Amino acid sequence: MERVLQKMRPSTASIQALILALVVAGAASQVTGQAGTGQTVIQKATEQFENNPLKTTVLGQGLFMFSGDGGDVVTAIVDNGSTLIIDSGVDTRVTELSDAIFKAAMRPVTRLVNTHWHFDHTGGNVFFGSEGVTIIGQENVKKRLSSVQRVPFVGLRDGHYPLQALPTITYSSSTTLHQGPQQLTLMNYGPAHTDGDTVVYVSPANVAVVGDIFSNHFYPIIDLASGGSIDGMIHSLDEILARTDEQTKIVPGHGPVATRANLEEYRDMLV
Ligand SMILES: [Zn+2]
Repeated sequence: MERVLQKMRPSTASIQALILALVVAGAASQVTGQAGTGQTVIQKATEQFENNPLKTTVLGQGLFMFSGDGGDVVTAIVDNGSTLIIDSGVDTRVTELSDAIFKAAMRPVTRLVNTHWHFDHTGGNVFFGSEGVTIIGQENVKKRLSSVQRVPFVGLRDGHYPLQALPTITYSSSTTLHQGPQQLTLMNYGPAHTDGDTVVYVSPANVAVVGDIFSNHFYPIIDLASGGSIDGMIHSLDEILARTDEQTKIVPGHGPVATRANLEEYRDMLV
């Protein structure tokens, strides 16, 4: 137990620093009433992520996970000629991310799925979109990225991405993609972390990429301003638990790869 706690400490410290940065930025904006708050918050959060090196984790069957300690997680699924990625990280790290993906996959990225609209999951959309990568997301991701968004509790102001950074393929409740031998089932279970979350089940690899519905070792964030809901988080987690087994690798929105048991613990904590 002690060893587990010690292992958790660096991640917990990073996210606490990040949350503190977000809260401080939010409070400062309320005092000064500045309009450019979002930029400050994003810069502060980005600095937190930038201080940690990008790690590549091999998940097997052509799947890779890229993450910084404390940062966002990007998943790649490789077939004979192309790479499909899930989420695109923060914009300032996109070149490093793109290099890491190519080093591991040796195939060009042709498709990108966004798990939700937040900047630390869509920051690379401009880069990949400009390269001609097809972007796929739940319909509310496109809506939120198309206009300015405000998330008052963290002082976040973002959205209104350029056209090439927006999803061109959207879905409402579920859709299916294929990447080589892997089938990807994209599911939205209604409002959870936001109103546009996607859970990706990859089969036969038996991997579930769940975005920020599950932050492993991180304090849960429910973005009420973007239509999120705690009951919805619990509902989504129940759906994920029902569709996975003890062997499923769970890729969280932040933190290391987890098991179904970790997800269950997180769900019980939220309840
Ligand atoms: Zn998020």
